[in-house]
Amino acid sequence: MSENKRVRVRFAPSPTGPLHMGGVRTALYNYLFAKKHGGDFLIRIEDTDQTRYVKGAEDYILEALKWCGITPDEGIGADGPHGPYRQSERKHMYRQYAEMLIENGHAYYAFDTPEDLERIRELAKEAGNVNWQYNQVTRGSMKNSITLPKEEVEKRLAENQAYVVRMKMPRNTEVKFEDSIRGWVSVNTNNLDDKVLFKSDGMPTYHLANIVDDHLMEITHVIRGEEWLPSAPLHVLMYEAFGWESPQFAHLPLLLRPDGNGKLSKRDGDRLGFPVFPIDWKNQETGETASGYREKGFFAPAFINMLAFLGWNPGTEQEIFSLEELTQAFTLKKVSKSGARFDYEKAKWFNQQYVRNTSNTVLAELIKPLIIEAGLTVSDEKLVKIVALVKERAIFPADIFTEGRFLLEAPQTFDEKLIAKKWNAEGAGYVKELRDIFNRLSDFSAASTEGAFKDFLAAKGVGFGKVGPALRIAVTGLGMGPSLFDIFEILGKEEVIQRIDKALETL
Ligand code: GLU
Repeated sequence: MSENKRVRVRFAPSPTGPLHMGGVRTALYNYLFAKKHGGDFLIRIEDTDQTRYVKGAEDYILEALKWCGITPDEGIGADGPHGPYRQSERKHMYRQYAEMLIENGHAYYAFDTPEDLERIRELAKEAGNVNWQYNQVTRGSMKNSITLPKEEVEKRLAENQAYVVRMKMPRNTEVKFEDSIRGWVSVNTNNLDDKVLFKSDGMPTYHLANIVDDHLMEITHVIRGEEWLPSAPLHVLMYEAFGWESPQFAHLPLLLRPDGNGKLSKRDGDRLGFPVFPIDWKNQETGETASGYREKGFFAPAFINMLAFLGWNPGTEQEIFSLEELTQAFTLKKVSKSGARFDYEKAKWFNQQYVRNTSNTVLAELIKPLIIEAGLTVSDEKLVKIVALVKERAIFPADIFTEGRFLLEAPQTFDEKLIAKKWNAEGAGYVKELRDIFNRLSDFSAASTEGAFKDFLAAKGVGFGKVGPALRIAVTGLGMGPSLFDIFEILGKEEVIQRIDKALETL
């Protein structure tokens, strides 16, 4: 690729289902690369294979990227001078390119019917060849414009007989290209087959549409998943055949299962209990569903931060990065060649850091709907204090509600096991005395109740362990939690006394 060309990259998903988190990472790296170099990030929808089209998938992809903050400069959702950006709407543009390759001898018509191909595969299998390919050798005995007389080809075309256009793979040629992540890749064309580029129904295959569009859309860098690496030599040859400059390729490492064995799939997510999709998905036709990070309670910036680190790292200790910071730090040189092992615990850790860095007022707003849904009420002022007290332990905003719920309502029941362990006549006696001491306090701040409590322990000559746990059970119904006196301050004197009275009555 020539220097000083404006950087242009694209994310080119096929709408065949919900976008896997690996796909979001591909979009993210493309986006970061474009932004870093002051270039353009495009979204193109590759929907030439109508048999794999899934209704709702395109909307899903766009919504997921929007949630992630990965916005296009051009393409679907942003328009631009190279449209349309949906391949099905570009259908009329591809035939001329297929014909161009036929004219310059890099492609040919093949008239073999699906039945012909089926038969020959069967025969090959019987002869012990399970991997029959239409290639440099076998094309010589098939029905195509290389083997058939010119008139016969013309006749078949004039009669509108079904055909495909195939790439005429050169024989025994080394295809070499430099991948930004993998370095030099070299493949001998004897290992490559004559891929179908175009079909007589007027539809190009992925390969043709992809190359033509990347060329017409002036794409400078193709950054995509490793699963496309085997197609790259064909693509390089196609650029040569057209006489076009090839973009720079970069093939990203796979996302691996937590145990490192194989590609991370939807099934792993279901089995191990974590989402592998950015947002919830429901197939409108089959009803099949899949869960997403958004609905699980992840913040989009945390999800993005986590994804960025699956296959890339800045080479420093810093782990928390905003999208802008990622843009500054990102380079393909620091993307690893080997697969990136997914770790859900780490994903949760990222979210926890973002919860901690979110203001208490924002978190309070986020959990209000849960409080209302549970039929509880709380003042804004008190809720912000509750958030401040329990947010440290929360991984998701909803955890703040679960963890802090005891501050919103008095314990309804007491856990028997806990009572057996932490409540006894001695403790109950102290709680009863403390109740009166607390009741006489005019200042109910944490410092004041803590002072009174410590004075009481000193006067009685007993340790915290004899009194604290019983007092905590009485007021919260729980065995553990934040500082008791902070809890008291939030609840207020009246509520604390009421809860102690109720506990002394029931226990
Ligand atoms: N449509 C292909 C996909 O679904 C795009 C591959 C590429 O980026 O070239 O992944």
